[in-house]
Amino acid sequence: MSIYVCPDCGYQYDEQSGCPREGYPAGTKWADLPEDFPCPDCFVREKPDFVPIASTEGSGD
Ligand SMILES: [Zn+2]
Repeated sequence: MSIYVCPDCGYQYDEQSGCPREGYPAGTKWADLPEDFPCPDCFVREKPDFVPIASTEGSGD
């Protein structure tokens, strides 16, 4: 699972959590989002603007 960050507002899209309020259930891969997927928080940035960050798999929580 990967996490992508909006460079404008800092919103993080976590594939593991998805974005249910926008219609993308938990587990929705970044690759499965439409190219015009807007940042749910600022609506300024779109999918190509997001920056991937390393996830810490298996680190527990
Ligand atoms: Zn944003």
